[in-house]
Amino acid sequence: VIEATNVSKWYGAFRALADVNLTVRKGERIVICGPSGSGKSTLIRCFNRLEAHQQGEIVVNGIRLHNKMRDVTEVRKNVGMVFQHFNLFPHMTVLMNCMAGPMWTKGVSEPDARKTALKFLERVRIPEQANKFPIQLSGGQQQRVAIARSLCMEPEVMLFDEPTSALDPEMVSEVLETMTSLARDGMTMVCVTHEMGFARAVADRVIFMDRGQIVEEGNPHDFFTRPQHDRTKLFLSQLL
Ligand code: ATP
Ligand code: MG
Repeated sequence: VIEATNVSKWYGAFRALADVNLTVRKGERIVICGPSGSGKSTLIRCFNRLEAHQQGEIVVNGIRLHNKMRDVTEVRKNVGMVFQHFNLFPHMTVLMNCMAGPMWTKGVSEPDARKTALKFLERVRIPEQANKFPIQLSGGQQQRVAIARSLCMEPEVMLFDEPTSALDPEMVSEVLETMTSLARDGMTMVCVTHEMGFARAVADRVIFMDRGQIVEEGNPHDFFTRPQHDRTKLFLSQLL
């Protein structure tokens, strides 16, 4: 679904990504972790063209991302993204938040968009909140709306950028449960998170980034029980 080859990106003179290679296959669940500033967000933002890379190649669902792209909507339709700070439309109800994308970018009719929205609000277990505004919901509920909103676009792959790190502790588990159930259903997922319990339970591969590079990757069992690199060991020891 995603194929990144020798991807590099600079912010001015600063190299945020350095020769990153990553393949995400259909149905795969990947967790990316690493210290602050290591390039995790930058990498996944390149996958839906919220950021542009300068070297190397990224192919998403068969579309090669490059500087002369006219239409990134085509890419983003297939790539859902959930952010740390929900990013819901504040002036729209929960239901409208979920209906807007399909209606505006896919030309789905209002009744069909409504049906899909209710289906996915049910899926994240908050159908009763449909007519509220985001501000009337708890953080955990808002994040589940954000997930439902992405799902309404029926994406091929979902990207998560620290979806639980802005939440109060008691709301983390409801969002992780939603993500776990998506994984169980076979959704292709790339999750930047430091929730190592989630990584252990759900990930097919855990990737550790540092200074713009993938330093280490492996299945969760190997990654957590016998990390190879000193930087990985240090990082894991600091999490506990
Ligand atoms: P965190 O865990 O704090 O979210 P991260 O691994 O997601 O960190 P990135 O946000 O990808 O890190 O940032 C990687 C590096 O690129 C950091 O050093 C950051 O300061 C820099 N950077 C990110 N965005 C920009 C920008 N728009 N302009 C300049 N530098 C940036
Ligand atoms: Mg980040």
